Amino acid sequence: MTPNSLIEKINAILPQTQCTKCGYDGCNPYAQALANQEADINRCPPGGLTGIQQLASLLQVPELPLDPECGTEIPLQVAVIDEAHCIGCTLCIRACPVDAIIGANKFMHTVDPELCTGCDLCVAPCPVDCISMVNANRSWTRQDAASARIRHEQRAIRLQKLSLQEEARLNQHSTQTATFNTTPTTPATANAPAKTAEQIKKEAIALALQRARERRQQAANK
Ligand code: SF4
Ligand code: SF4
Ligand code: SF4
Repeated sequence: MTPNSLIEKINAILPQTQCTKCGYDGCNPYAQALANQEADINRCPPGGLTGIQQLASLLQVPELPLDPECGTEIPLQVAVIDEAHCIGCTLCIRACPVDAIIGANKFMHTVDPELCTGCDLCVAPCPVDCISMVNANRSWTRQDAASARIRHEQRAIRLQKLSLQEEARLNQHSTQTATFNTTPTTPATANAPAKTAEQIKKEAIALALQRARERRQQAANK
């Protein structure tokens, strides 16, 4: 078996929630680590005991209990956004590995329960704690896994394109700034560095938070 086909067989066993609980940045990197014998087979809580048994059989190694440091095997969860408190900061969208969250900057966000893998990666970044994980009341199927894998791969391609575009934009900006700065009549304030996209986002979030606090204060005063 070639290394790539072994990685593919391992990846086909993994549940593709892309939760990173194994300590790797998604199912495929964990599959690569397993194929390279760099990781144990017991690091995937969503795959649970069944997944461990399948990996043990494929890799011809002894079964192990799930590593508690990675988490526990629990029923499938789904994220729910309390839309009344969402400030539309988009941080959850950026954290979601399978594009299961719908929303736009400064507008409320919502989760598509059919696409949510229950990975809970959106919970921690939410600045107003308005995302909860609840029981999905259904099981994760192989069809869900196949769909999540495609969405995760499509997202990775999109993010790579965006990163390249941003890099090109910054390069163009620094070239223009260098040209501009050689002009003798340039006022001192024009040499101030342009805000990065990250700074602009941070300021937008701070502003949104401020507005949310003000709204809550007004509601409390009524
Ligand atoms: S489902 Fe989560 S823990 Fe399991 S392999 Fe994928 S990323 Fe790792
Ligand atoms: S909505 Fe949240 S829990 Fe669901 S897949 Fe996206 S990041 Fe994971
Ligand atoms: S991170 Fe929280 S506040 Fe920000 S858009 Fe998502 S749900 Fe709304």
